[in-house]
Amino acid sequence: MSDYGLLVDYEYCTGCHTCEVACKQEHRIEAGKTSGIKIVELLQELPGGGLDIINMPILTHLCYLCAPRIKNGQLPACQVHCMADILKFGKSEDLVKEVPKKRKAIVYTLSGFSI
Ligand code: SF4
Ligand code: SF4
Repeated sequence: MSDYGLLVDYEYCTGCHTCEVACKQEHRIEAGKTSGIKIVELLQELPGGGLDIINMPILTHLCYLCAPRIKNGQLPACQVHCMADILKFGKSEDLVKEVPKKRKAIVYTLSGFSI
């Protein structure tokens, strides 16, 4: 059995929060409640002045990788609605191979997830 996960190429995350809305709509989570994904804004002071804004998508304990959609041959709702195309569902072993090719990326895995 393979483990599955979500690759987040967060260098290109705009912080638009569309993924959060898509997750809430898909799983009927009330407004104001935490969804399966949360965007955290990190501010980093740069040497010599200036500020870098990093939008970091974090999967919460509520993410179950859209198991019913996957079983139905669909992609996760957050991936489908991310206009920046930075979220990618797949086998963990395949996703981690893509990380070294990216500047800022992380793979979240859900152990025991099976299709
Ligand atoms: S939809 Fe994509 S670009 Fe927008 S906040 Fe979510 S991960 Fe970032
Ligand atoms: S994979 Fe599904 S459950 Fe997880 S954050 Fe994305 S939309 Fe929500």
